[in-house]
Amino acid sequence: MTTCESGHVSTQQADFYEELISIQSAYKERLGEEELFPKPDKEQALERIKKGIPLIKFDEIRIKGETIKGILDDVCNILIKYELCKEEDIKQLKTDGFDKLKSAALVPDNEMDVLTAFVFTMAERIILGSIADKLRDSIDDSRWLRGYCPMCGNKPQMARLQKEDGKRFLQCGICSTQWQFMRIKCIYCGTEDQNDLRFFWADDDSPYRVDFCRKCKGYIKTIDERKCQEGGEINLFIEDLSTAYLDILAVEQGYQTSRGDKTGGGSIQAMQ
Ligand SMILES: [Zn+2]
Ligand SMILES: [Zn+2]
Repeated sequence: MTTCESGHVSTQQADFYEELISIQSAYKERLGEEELFPKPDKEQALERIKKGIPLIKFDEIRIKGETIKGILDDVCNILIKYELCKEEDIKQLKTDGFDKLKSAALVPDNEMDVLTAFVFTMAERIILGSIADKLRDSIDDSRWLRGYCPMCGNKPQMARLQKEDGKRFLQCGICSTQWQFMRIKCIYCGTEDQNDLRFFWADDDSPYRVDFCRKCKGYIKTIDERKCQEGGEINLFIEDLSTAYLDILAVEQGYQTSRGDKTGGGSIQAMQ
C-alpha cells in the first residue's frame, strides 16, 4: 500500500487496510455479475442530475441476504485477525446484527457501537460502490457541481486537486464516485466568499491540506496531486485513513466534517 507521502501509517495498519481493500475488490467483481439496481436510461438519469437528485434509489436495490451476511462475515474476520476486536464481540454482532438485517437497514446510525457501525459502513461501501461502478457512464459529472455524491447522496470524504490542471474533484466516502466541484466554494454552505474560505497545510512541502470554511465551520481534507511524486495511483480511501492527524488538528480548531451525512438516498435492505 502506498500513499502520496509516506510515514504516517504503520506496517500493521497498512496490511489491515490492504486486506479491506482486497475484500472490496473481490466482492465488487462478484457483484458485478448481479443486477443489484436497474440502470436508468439516459433521459431519466439526466433529469435526476438536473434536479440534484442522486441516481441510486435505495428502495430499488436488490441484494441477497446471504451476500450481505458473507460481506459482514469477511469484514469481521479481518477485525479478529488484526485483534481489533474479540471473537465474543463479533458473536454478539452476528446474533444481533445479522438477524436484524432481514428487516433493518444496512446503514450505520448514531445508536450503534463503533464496531457495528464500522462493519456496516464497509458493507455499504462494497454494495454502493459496486452499483456506482455500473452507473458511471450514466452521468456527466461536470454537470453536477454539488457538495454531495451524484450516485448515493453521501457527503465527500476527501478532495483532490488534479495534477494536470489543478481542477478540484470530490470523492464520495461511501461509493467512491468522484465528481468535479468549484475550486472556490464551500462544499457545505456554498459560500464563495474568499475571506471565509481558508486552508492550512500539514507542512509547507506536504501535498495534504485542510480546506475550511469560517462561515459554517466545515472542513475537508485535500490532496494536491501537483505536490505528489510521479507514479502510483492515488487511492483517496487510503489517503484519508493515513491523514487522521489532520482531522484531529481541524477538530481541535473547532471545525467539523459532515462525513456520512446524507442528502438523498435512504437505506439498503436485504431481500428476505
Ligand atoms: Zn456516493
Ligand atoms: Zn461553509
